[in-house]
Amino acid sequence: MTSVANLTDPAVEEAERYTAHNYHPLPVVIAEAEGAWVTDVDGRRYLDCLAGYSALNFGHRHPDLIAAAREQLDRVTLTSRAFLHDQFGPFCRDLARLTGKDMVLPMNSGAEAVETAVKVSRKWGYKIKGVPDGKATIVVADGNFHGRTTTIISFSTDPEARADYGPYTPGFRVVPYGDLDALAAAVDETTVAVLLEPIQGEAGVIVPPRGYLPGVRRLCSERDVLLVADEIQSGLGRTGATFACDDEGVVPDMYILGKALGGGIVPVSAVAAGREVLGVLRPGEHGSTFGGNPLACAVARGVIALLETGEPQARAREVGAHLHRRLGGLIGRGLTAVRGRGLWAGIDIDPALMTGREACERLLTRGVLAKDTHDSTLRLAPPLIVTHDEIDGAVDALAEVLKG
Ligand SMILES: *Cc1c(COP(=O)(O)O)cnc(C)c1O
Repeated sequence: MTSVANLTDPAVEEAERYTAHNYHPLPVVIAEAEGAWVTDVDGRRYLDCLAGYSALNFGHRHPDLIAAAREQLDRVTLTSRAFLHDQFGPFCRDLARLTGKDMVLPMNSGAEAVETAVKVSRKWGYKIKGVPDGKATIVVADGNFHGRTTTIISFSTDPEARADYGPYTPGFRVVPYGDLDALAAAVDETTVAVLLEPIQGEAGVIVPPRGYLPGVRRLCSERDVLLVADEIQSGLGRTGATFACDDEGVVPDMYILGKALGGGIVPVSAVAAGREVLGVLRPGEHGSTFGGNPLACAVARGVIALLETGEPQARAREVGAHLHRRLGGLIGRGLTAVRGRGLWAGIDIDPALMTGREACERLLTRGVLAKDTHDSTLRLAPPLIVTHDEIDGAVDALAEVLKG
């Protein structure tokens, strides 16, 4: 195995020595990036097919977003929510318009936005639905990934994410993803929300059967349960629509957004919902020091403006179709399955050939950054600005890697 990065680089040794080993990074030390490309400390260039787990949907250092950030850096960066600032109202208005919802609550990380959704759903359940105090349940899917807090890992089914972190937060029911009957059976009068990823990213870009999401929508409406869509990874253009739910004409009661909302510059997350839902919160009941700060709001407004042109979504559809056509040609030639939508693909490598990790290491030597998820599954999610030719380069590299 040839390794591209200079492993004697002090940056590698220092990262190994001084950091908790909660990640196992590929041996590449990035120094610069622009658009769909990153450059390492030795000047080698790589096509970024991970795009910060979709936090970089618009590419590295998108000029509009960098300009918005620069302009805001020169004005005001932090006020706390104790005061208003001139980006806050406009950001909330813009995101409400993009989501079609009445109200927005900004946070920072995705996990915080999921926590916010859990808290708001429970409060809605007690105050509006009339669930007996302390009895609220939320139904989630197996294989889910919603973040890393103690409550969120309490309903994870991934032993790596969950083991040794108990005691676990109660109030969650886990059902098989894509199984509407199982979901219907798990919902009862204590259920305040169904929390789902419309496409499961971390699990390997798992697309549920057609009709599942509309079925969940109907069930939630009939049983007075909130449908909460975690679109942190699937949303904001990745699948070729603004939200993955759009692909099936489904409108959830609450969107959870993050990752690309921060334009690859700052962490920005938010939940968006109707007034009857987010309106349950009163001053002092929930908050965040950095949530909705001026820099975050200015960058996120730039992100929303890009999405409102419809161009990132159109590119994800068009170039994504090309990606899936090309990947389909590798089935039986080292790949056993290809899933996904838009510029988002989960690919299963024949486990007899190599692990996902090995494939990523070999792709790295060919100038492609990708990340394995489970065992032999890779997730490909290049920035939405990627070109046909760049996709061809990446798929050609993958084809070579799969030849061994
Ligand atoms: C990444 C992710 C999260 C967690 O976001 P963080 O910013 O890492 O806390 C939650 N849900 C989904 C679907 C994600 O992909």
